[in-house]
Amino acid sequence: MPAPAGRTATPDGDGTRTDTHCPYCALQCGMTLTPAADVAPREFPANRGGLCQKGWTSASLLDSPARLTTPLVRTGGELRPASWDTALDVIAARLTELQAAHGNDAVAVFGGGGLTNEKAYLLGKFARVALGTSQIDYNGRFCMSSAAAAGLRAFGVDRGLPFPMTDLAGADVIVLVGSNPAETMPPFLQHLQGAAAAGGLVVIDPRRTPTAEQANVHLAPAPGTDLALALGVLHATVAEGLLDEAYVAERTAGFDAMWRTVARYWPEHVERITGVSAADQRALSRGLAGARSAYVLTARGAEQHATGVDTVSAWINLALAHGLPGRAGSGYGCLTGQGNGQGGREHGQKADQLPGYRKLDDPAAREHVAGVWGIAPESLPAPGRSAFELLDALGQPEGPKAMLVFGSNVVVSAPRSQRVAERLAALDFLVTADLVLSETAAMADVVLPVTQWAEEDGTMTNLEGRVLLRRKAIDPPDGVRSDLDVLAGLAERFGQPAGRFPVDAEEIFTELRAASAGGVADYSGVTYDRLRAGEALHWPVPAVDHPGTPRLFLEAFAHADGRARFVAVDHTGPAEPPDAEFPLQATTGRLLQHYQSGAQTRAVPELAEAAAEACIEVHPDTAARAGLGVGDVATVESRRGAVTGRVRCVASMRPDVVFVPFHFPGGQRANLITNPALDPTSRMPEFKVCAARLVPADAEPSATQPEAVTQQKPVTQQKPVTQQASVELQKSVTQQESGTQQASGTQQASGTQQKSVEQRETGGAS
Ligand code: SF4
Repeated sequence: MPAPAGRTATPDGDGTRTDTHCPYCALQCGMTLTPAADVAPREFPANRGGLCQKGWTSASLLDSPARLTTPLVRTGGELRPASWDTALDVIAARLTELQAAHGNDAVAVFGGGGLTNEKAYLLGKFARVALGTSQIDYNGRFCMSSAAAAGLRAFGVDRGLPFPMTDLAGADVIVLVGSNPAETMPPFLQHLQGAAAAGGLVVIDPRRTPTAEQANVHLAPAPGTDLALALGVLHATVAEGLLDEAYVAERTAGFDAMWRTVARYWPEHVERITGVSAADQRALSRGLAGARSAYVLTARGAEQHATGVDTVSAWINLALAHGLPGRAGSGYGCLTGQGNGQGGREHGQKADQLPGYRKLDDPAAREHVAGVWGIAPESLPAPGRSAFELLDALGQPEGPKAMLVFGSNVVVSAPRSQRVAERLAALDFLVTADLVLSETAAMADVVLPVTQWAEEDGTMTNLEGRVLLRRKAIDPPDGVRSDLDVLAGLAERFGQPAGRFPVDAEEIFTELRAASAGGVADYSGVTYDRLRAGEALHWPVPAVDHPGTPRLFLEAFAHADGRARFVAVDHTGPAEPPDAEFPLQATTGRLLQHYQSGAQTRAVPELAEAAAEACIEVHPDTAARAGLGVGDVATVESRRGAVTGRVRCVASMRPDVVFVPFHFPGGQRANLITNPALDPTSRMPEFKVCAARLVPADAEPSATQPEAVTQQKPVTQQKPVTQQASVELQKSVTQQESGTQQASGTQQASGTQQKSVEQRETGGAS
């Protein structure tokens, strides 16, 4: 995309630029930044000089009036400015008190897939060593945990793309399952052009997304039936003699058991389940079999289901049947979503993991990591609750009484979000560390203002397992500290020895390397110096003279026998099928302009203006049946709640589907309606499909009132733009002058927050 008006690309070669990466998605596009915070795209394999709108405008948030620049402590029911010492003292005192009364697990920690490797690592260490709690998990659980689990059981190791993404350029067939990179990571489309030119770009998605528009073939199964579609294509592969028998015999195990299930899914049967014709299923099978170079790539559309792991396994089975994984120029991969979705799940902020992708219940792993940390292995807690289960337990008799949240906005991003807001409100004590007063931060007792991407050093691991150095380009505003400083400050107050929680990112990374050494995700050979020199290091990198491993599985898969596993999986359908009461299927997803909960991108004026409020996409006939037309304000109701948005009629939509984006707060939260049914293996909630009905926003409540439907205001009465908008606050928030210290420059921001909060509480439009 060209530079937006008012923000220009910096000319090359002026000597003042800092090479860094975009703060948002897992593509981690290369960019440069000047001290004046001008962004310019940088030639980098992932983005080849391209940036999307989010990347171009990413510097806006650095000096945004929405930025927090002083700690806030709730006093007398209101959030008031406080000094850092006061804020950290309050946190340490309350957490100590609650742990003394209720045990170590009374305090929970919740991390994020956008945190750097160093932060994710230190957060896991802080939880298990300083707090001694088992209650830690992160929002990556909501992102691609299903693909991670399916990859582990098929290949013995989970790395999003087990090959460099530039390999995709040579493919003549690429099958994208539940992926919409045209909106989520537009520069990635460059890697798909070879397949598109060869007529082999296939998109599988219930919606005709902008990516589907560019595909050669778009298959639109009913939501929650993509597992069945994979079974049908696999059946056609075998029935038409297209199975790669030599590969299956030499490199895999488990085909016969898998086939016993697939044998029941002949294409005509699958057509009745999915709506995708038997002819299209057979054509896809033939396309994969005839390709010189082919890839199957899955994303959230396949993964965010209560059967997400099995769904991904079904697509991996298909890739194995065609002999793709572990073959140069072909393969299976998962397109990670969050900026550090890959690294964030490797180094210890997940409930069951230790650094290096080690298992917390593995005695050898505990001994190794405890040795690096200088503690006794037996002092490490056991695995704790997964993300939604943790959120659901907050404030319950057996659940945590306090929580620290780093880089996550669960009030908007977690499923069944009204219930999550209620659980947060039931806590005795909530702390958030964030850039802006997100909807979750607005409920906290202490809010800590922290640095962002351009203001700190740190490493990220992109969707192909390549470790990247994101460098500090500018100084943070006065009053803002890094998450690493926060953890060190708290650790000191918890009596941890000096030096056990460093604040320097490179020093922490050196420790992370030691903790990961010998693990699956071995970073021991990655150094800041090698990254500064521009080396392309894909893990595992087991020694400083090791070149890294851009392509996994070329000789063997990671299971002991070197073979990949077919996994027998069966179609069961959505956890909540449509019925007479809720006859539609609601699905959620992203818009081009926003990232995740929108806490950051809604504070960027260009993005907020371009996509200011939630839309509800439906087929024109579906809208008409509900008495709705384009631009009307409508409500999508499920058994858990209702979300409001403006109707957008899309002729290509399936008439049985309604789509809601998930970036908006208050009554526009898509997660008010989503189903928290969890995958039994990954604990991924079923974000992608639930039974729903569509009604005008001003309709009388129906006889069957959905559970916990809150009094929603129509979109027109809500503040539509900023991240400050209309969450139902459990506690009032006022940021006002107090007698505490406040750095210069924070007055204006405080005033802005005051205004926004007043608007939120009155539902006023700006
Ligand atoms: S949001 Fe993703 S695709 Fe867009 S510029 Fe940033 S890293 Fe690239």
